[in-house]
Amino acid sequence: MPPETICPCCGRMVADWHFEWHEQQDQKDIFSGKKSMKCPLCHSQVAFDGFTVTKVESEHSPAERDIWKAARWARILNKSLREYLQTNEGQPYAAFWTEGQIEAADKQALNNPG
Ligand SMILES: [Zn+2]
Repeated sequence: MPPETICPCCGRMVADWHFEWHEQQDQKDIFSGKKSMKCPLCHSQVAFDGFTVTKVESEHSPAERDIWKAARWARILNKSLREYLQTNEGQPYAAFWTEGQIEAADKQALNNPG
């Protein structure tokens, strides 16, 4: 979420921005404009108000997506994060984490769902 929105910086279609992968506090800070979200394709900072993705007026500290949240999210789809990162929607995020981090997050999500 939000799905299929064009990045205001690189003009490319982002299949899913995965706003929900950010920590709760980061989500609040992004909504209120204190932090920015990163485009998975060009890594530019963008603003997100809950509805639209826009260019940021000035540079903020970008919020990083949380790998544990991402792995638990993938479990809900009965996938591992590694598997999700091989899909069209997930592929742009594959470069955000190392193989070792992804493996550890998948293990954690399996043992500790929810
Ligand atoms: Zn972009």
